[in-house]
Amino acid sequence: MSKEMICIMCPRGCHLKVSKDLVVEGNFCPRGKAYGIEEMTHPTRILTTTMKTKSNLHPRISIKSKEGIPKDLIFKAMEEINHLTLNKDVKIGDVVIKDICHCGVDMIATKNI
Ligand code: SF4
Repeated sequence: MSKEMICIMCPRGCHLKVSKDLVVEGNFCPRGKAYGIEEMTHPTRILTTTMKTKSNLHPRISIKSKEGIPKDLIFKAMEEINHLTLNKDVKIGDVVIKDICHCGVDMIATKNI
């Protein structure tokens, strides 16, 4: 059975159709083919959120995953983030949580504090 999806790799938003044999149709460029195959085999998402800090001035800091996190680990990752408090100054791009949920992806700061 094939699956239909919208490619989110750029604003063009191509409508993709991916067969169970991983044949991708509807993609304007190769990134869409890679996205379609990944969605069928190992879907991931960039996680963008905030975490608590010890700072009175900045009680929360915006963070994001450096790469895509497996889609089925997103809620577990949010639980882990919600149990942690950042206790140091960081710059944009610094790692704030290493290897979240042991999936090999770090969470990084998207704000200086
Ligand atoms: S297939 Fe290529 S052009 Fe189409 S949305 Fe994806 S990245 Fe953009």
